[in-house]
Amino acid sequence: MAEFDYDLFVIGAGSGGVRASRVSAALGARVAVAEESALGGTCVNRGCVPKKLFVHAAQFRDDFEDAAGFGWSLGSRSFYWSTLIANKDREIARLNGIYRDLLIDAGVDLIEAHARVQDAHTLEVGGRMITAAHILIATGSEPSMPNVPGIEFAMTSDQVFQLAELPRRIAIVGGGYIATEFAGIFHALGVTTTQLYRGPLFLRGFDDDVRSFLASEMRARGVDLRFAADVESIEKVAGGLRVRLANDSVLEADAILYATGRIPRTRSIGLEQAGVALDETGAVRVDRLSRSSVPSIWAIGDATHRINLTPVAIHEGICVAKTLFAGVDTPPDHTGVPSAVFSQPPIGTVGPSEAAARDLYGEIDVYRSTFRALKDTLTGREERTLMKLIVERASGRVIAAHMVGAEAGEIIQGFAVALKCGATKAQFDATLGIHPTSAEEFVTMRDPV
Ligand code: FAD
Repeated sequence: MAEFDYDLFVIGAGSGGVRASRVSAALGARVAVAEESALGGTCVNRGCVPKKLFVHAAQFRDDFEDAAGFGWSLGSRSFYWSTLIANKDREIARLNGIYRDLLIDAGVDLIEAHARVQDAHTLEVGGRMITAAHILIATGSEPSMPNVPGIEFAMTSDQVFQLAELPRRIAIVGGGYIATEFAGIFHALGVTTTQLYRGPLFLRGFDDDVRSFLASEMRARGVDLRFAADVESIEKVAGGLRVRLANDSVLEADAILYATGRIPRTRSIGLEQAGVALDETGAVRVDRLSRSSVPSIWAIGDATHRINLTPVAIHEGICVAKTLFAGVDTPPDHTGVPSAVFSQPPIGTVGPSEAAARDLYGEIDVYRSTFRALKDTLTGREERTLMKLIVERASGRVIAAHMVGAEAGEIIQGFAVALKCGATKAQFDATLGIHPTSAEEFVTMRDPV
């Protein structure tokens, strides 16, 4: 008779939890996972996937406008929000089913209930007591909103994917990537869009050139982007909602989306009583192997608030599984994580910002290019593309690549491999371009700025 019901009990079948469960089971562990909501977690149900489908919907606006320059004449066009929502829901239901099959096929016991930690090896799951040699916290995060009068009239990204109707005017509060992406989506879908951020410039942590370049491109497209704009109150008025800003100006909208940050979903699941140390944000404090202050309790993904992205949660899940069941201590590697902001135009980035690179590496060379993409010579679009490489002067190694422009995420993914391999600027220079593409600019920038 085994000492525990399971070798591993995972709380949360989202990006990280599903992968940790499957890999652990494949390594021979007896695994159960609890999920209290839809399988696949934030990314599948309320995050990356529906968001990217909305981004594709938004992109058609440019495509329709640009078509004329290439000789196409289109008839009248209409957009049906309800069709987009229904089709998106159908795809998510399909993905939920795939996640279920993946877990079952891997031999993982799926328990669709709320789980709560009782002590270092015991959980209460849907009214049942279950024991496990190891417990993995993969509970993700949730939106957080400030305590502004009238905040009850605002929605978060959790609700935006189910909006019954496309609003005529929207105010989006926040300066992170989620707020910025939704500003692009709603604007392109024909909604009068205002993005309000209380800081001096949005997308804190991204390269400064990238931030200001995107701001000017978004403004040129017609997004009303307001920085140093602090919301003081929201009230319901005839015909909509009124947002009052700290500088006494007012703004009317039909919907308000708050994307002002996310907090780890770690409270009220028994962690503190079990002795698991949390930081001031509620994130589980973990060591380099993702182990918490209680040796049998581990944590990954947004619950640890390290880098809150799906591929990172998945990577951390695989690492915990290997550490526990493959007999190899496997710390996650958080260096060189590429990411994208699916704004209009999008950002792709890998490596530190120029300012951070100066702090980290001291002597650096910066290569920067802005240009008009070939396609836009016929569309008449004035939009420009920004590309930037940062090179460590001593070693010649390319330490960062940043881009704002069409397909930036797709392009930077490939360059992220080169950077991971330690590619130098000389090796970039020795690589021939693919002509005519925008991406070739990354291998033809010759003079540092
Ligand atoms: P999650 O995927 O959130 O999974 C946690 C799961 O745990 C949930 O299903 C939850 O129901 C369950 N759970 C919680 N508590 C309990 C409990 N007590 N009992 C049972 N079950 C429980 N990342 C990207 O990489 N690219 C993107 O483009 C991107 N876009 C995003 C857009 C939006 C709008 C948002 C909100 C996020 C986006 N992210 C994106 C971030 C990404 O979704 C998260 O980083 C990722 O989902 C984190 O995975 P996780 O496993 O930590 O948590």
